[in-house]
Amino acid sequence: QGDRREVDREVRSVCPYCGVGCQLTYKIKDDRIAWVEGAPGPANENRLCVKGRFGFDYVAHPHRLTKPLIRREDAPEKGLNVDPANPWTHFREAEWDEALEVAARGLADLRSYYGGRAVAGFGSAKCSNEEAYLFQKLIRQGFGHNNVDHCTRLCHASSVAALMENVGSGAVTASFNEIENADVAIMIGANPVENHPVAATYFKQFAKRGGRLIVMDPRGQALKRHADHMLQFRPGTDVALLNAIMHVIVEEKLYDRQYVQGFTEGFFEFRDHIRAFPPERMAALCGIDADTIRQVARDFARARAGMIFWGMGVSQHIHGTDNARCLISLALLCGHVGRPGTGLHPLRGQNNVQGASDAGLIPQVMPDYQSVEDPAVRDLFRHIWQGTRIDPKPGLTVVEIMDAIYRGEIRGMYVMGENPAMSDPDVDHARTALSRLDHLVVQDIFLTETAMFADVILPASAWPEKTGTVTNTNRQVQMGRKAIDAPGEAREDWRIIVGLAQRLGLDWDYDGPRSVFDEMKMSMRSLHHITWNRLESENAVTYPCLSMEDPGQSVVFGDGFPRRAGRAKFTPARVTPPAETPDERFPMILITGRVLEHWHTGSMTRRASVLDSMEPEAFVQVHPRTLRRLGVAPGGMLKLTTRRGSVTVAARADRAVAEDTVFLPFAFVESAANVLTNPQLDPFGKIPEFKYAAVRVEAAEAG
Ligand code: SF4
Repeated sequence: QGDRREVDREVRSVCPYCGVGCQLTYKIKDDRIAWVEGAPGPANENRLCVKGRFGFDYVAHPHRLTKPLIRREDAPEKGLNVDPANPWTHFREAEWDEALEVAARGLADLRSYYGGRAVAGFGSAKCSNEEAYLFQKLIRQGFGHNNVDHCTRLCHASSVAALMENVGSGAVTASFNEIENADVAIMIGANPVENHPVAATYFKQFAKRGGRLIVMDPRGQALKRHADHMLQFRPGTDVALLNAIMHVIVEEKLYDRQYVQGFTEGFFEFRDHIRAFPPERMAALCGIDADTIRQVARDFARARAGMIFWGMGVSQHIHGTDNARCLISLALLCGHVGRPGTGLHPLRGQNNVQGASDAGLIPQVMPDYQSVEDPAVRDLFRHIWQGTRIDPKPGLTVVEIMDAIYRGEIRGMYVMGENPAMSDPDVDHARTALSRLDHLVVQDIFLTETAMFADVILPASAWPEKTGTVTNTNRQVQMGRKAIDAPGEAREDWRIIVGLAQRLGLDWDYDGPRSVFDEMKMSMRSLHHITWNRLESENAVTYPCLSMEDPGQSVVFGDGFPRRAGRAKFTPARVTPPAETPDERFPMILITGRVLEHWHTGSMTRRASVLDSMEPEAFVQVHPRTLRRLGVAPGGMLKLTTRRGSVTVAARADRAVAEDTVFLPFAFVESAANVLTNPQLDPFGKIPEFKYAAVRVEAAEAG
């Protein structure tokens, strides 16, 4: 933790991990981060969790990339066979000029020979808004299409699809801190104590002061202790459960008639649809008794102010969009939108997944969710981007891009700060696809599993090594400031993107993130009244922001929605079973997710000494009775097999999971959860079903 007596300087910035977006202060001694303290940001009010407080020394890990690398001509076959500490049989060091030249030439050659669609890009939710903007611009301007995406596709794409469809905006309608004004809150498919820990402190305070907390999750979890109702429903039955709750609200006439009449459309079709879901019929399916469903419905509908929070347990299903549609309908029915203490809040995952999406790092829309199919939008960007023709066809999403690579239709990729060789579903398929690329350029801070497949690796900056803005789950745009220099010759991501763009023939002339931010403001209404100067002096401004004095609107849509006639929409949702269900060969259910100490694919947190020492090894959570049935003691090894593959991993006894279910964290490469996961997609959000796979669990054979 360093010497706490004195430091050379202090730098205010933002935590690089989750979407809560806690502000922090880096304490710098001898040009190294000595320790970190919470700062008074609007989302965290000085609080930090273990990742924010102790997870910073990854920046000084000896595995950091400090010079550009180019694949050697005599390198062994591409695969996960590179030692990050000793990559020299596969790669050689290069100067920046040569590396950028080779990187750009490989992509440009594919563009000339096969056309622009032969190249696609994955940007990152870990980089700044400015870097996300530049990345999507490079693909759209440099290659003439929209095949650019990032990890939002793997976390909340279905939530955004449902919110855009029914509310007219993809962001939260209220900050999570609004819970202090609520009487009741639903927390479904989210485990904030592990995944949004500082937000969880507000949720616990809410319960302690008497707020009614309703937790719905197939897994038990820490918030259960604070809940008035804990509904541990069967995995994949969200729509049945939520429709049953809404059936009660409609049947018992508990809904807010005035609100429904004044602010919504589609109620009568919805009312007819919901009649088919009485709790007594849904109880057996979702494993929750009808009386509990009725009580939850009454508690939520009768409250003066209610909020709904959800996480990836809702979104990562082939019916993820339907799940989110149900939550939106539930809030609309009860009029729990647009007032203090009310709202819809999908808890965003990565520190800048909201901002990267806002900046247009998604294949269907330009910055600020402006559709590529709208001629007026294309005209706007043709004007701002000096004559660039925007492709009117929505691009491919993350998993679709991987499939196109596999089929040989996409032959070159530019990947900035993402790790699809760990994060994609059915990851052996993704790894095979990556190995087939003619040219892969990876820009990262470590030699990730994806970088192992690269032809050129460009060493980038960690978050404390650069300046830029990020946007958290609350729509708060915040200023991240450079605290230390990057190691060796590593560069800021924005500078690398510009260098590559110039070598691809684009006439780019940015002199820093501020000039990029100024360009973003030309097309993004969400940034009205938010200026670089304000962010420098105020550290955070929430959008929408009504004036230069306004800190921004925490709660939105009190006077209508950004949809036709200002009305939100009810979209009925049918019960769709998971893409595969247990059978004789694969009789149990696999759920994947995160743990408190590790972040996503583990490339940073497994190199953060405190976090790695707290949770150093892969494990799978299994109910003790299931372990006894399998004849395996806690700590013994289990083999998990799905239709995609097998992993072997140590068992951890945990009563939080049901007896027919196992939970496998996805941060550990040695038992990569995504070897097992199902790549089937939600048809609207195109998100894979990470939260449900049929699995066989057995004792691993000794040796
Ligand atoms: Fe960082 Fe999230 Fe923890 Fe806050 S809650 S310190 S943003 S990981």
